[in-house]
Amino acid sequence: MTLSCPLPLPTYDDVVAAAGRIAGHAHRTPVISSRTVNEEFGAQVFFKCENLQRMGAFKFRGAFNALARFDAAQRKAGVVAFSSGNHAQGIALAARELGIPATIVMPKDAPAAKVAATQGYGATVVFYDRYTQDREQITRELAERNGLTQIPPYDHADVLAGQGTAAKELFEEVGELDAFFVCLGGGGLLSGSALATRALSPRCKLYGVEPEAGNDGQQSFRTGSIVHIDTPKTIADGAQTQHLGQITFPIIRRDVDDILTVSDAQLVDAMRFLAERMKLVVEPTGCLGFAAARAMRDQLKGQRVGVLISGGNVDLARLGALLAG
Ligand SMILES: *Cc1c(COP(=O)(O)O)cnc(C)c1O
Repeated sequence: MTLSCPLPLPTYDDVVAAAGRIAGHAHRTPVISSRTVNEEFGAQVFFKCENLQRMGAFKFRGAFNALARFDAAQRKAGVVAFSSGNHAQGIALAARELGIPATIVMPKDAPAAKVAATQGYGATVVFYDRYTQDREQITRELAERNGLTQIPPYDHADVLAGQGTAAKELFEEVGELDAFFVCLGGGGLLSGSALATRALSPRCKLYGVEPEAGNDGQQSFRTGSIVHIDTPKTIADGAQTQHLGQITFPIIRRDVDDILTVSDAQLVDAMRFLAERMKLVVEPTGCLGFAAARAMRDQLKGQRVGVLISGGNVDLARLGALLAG
């Protein structure tokens, strides 16, 4: 697939508008720093803690921004979304707050905590088999049959503009940075962060970080066209995407400096460090940025570094098993 995006791409103005819509609904999450990390890096490291966002991940930002723009007919009919977890919860919670019915298409093997939370927010959950069934087709059919509006997890202008508000808050709080590490799945978080970075800290090196087993983003970035892969086997379940989006990719290609990868073992090390030393419960996907920053800390000496911690939704039993394993 080549780079063809007929629509005008969203801009930083859309991130600013999103920030206005989510104000009072999403948390302005804390920015945390650690003396131990700063000493280990010989740098100043700022963690933007979206694991402390409502429903436990940044996804609430994009979901709320998208649903807040529904017209009266869309609100009445409802929203449908597919997701392996956090997007589902984000849509479910935002929909409940806005009084919009929500239907979520989820894989049968999604983490139990994520399924329970989605149902707990009042959404109707429809299950599918991620290895044999096409979730996009199932979602499309539900949308057509019931007149629902589909909100995809990343390839949507309002979703990515909402995700960009976390980076906007970080730069507003700490000022310009030399380097910024952001987790990468389908690219909603990274492309929104890129719009905020280029507006607020234009010289900052911006890195997207994905799991080694699913480096479609890195391949796409380097070849210039969207590469599709099979569902990658990785503990980073929030980054098991098969390809970047038609809207996220051109922004990433234009505004991001490089795409890095980390192994599952590096993710477990990062999870352990964040839990033990910083008392932060972070899900495997949420550790991508920090794991990559640690791996290149020698190049970051003396710099001001941002790390986006994207989410904290992990079953405690699973966290224990990963740390013990
Ligand atoms: C969805 C998600 C990601 C990846 O976000 P994209 O917008 O798909 O790139 C990273 N971390 C967590 C915790 C997520 O839920």
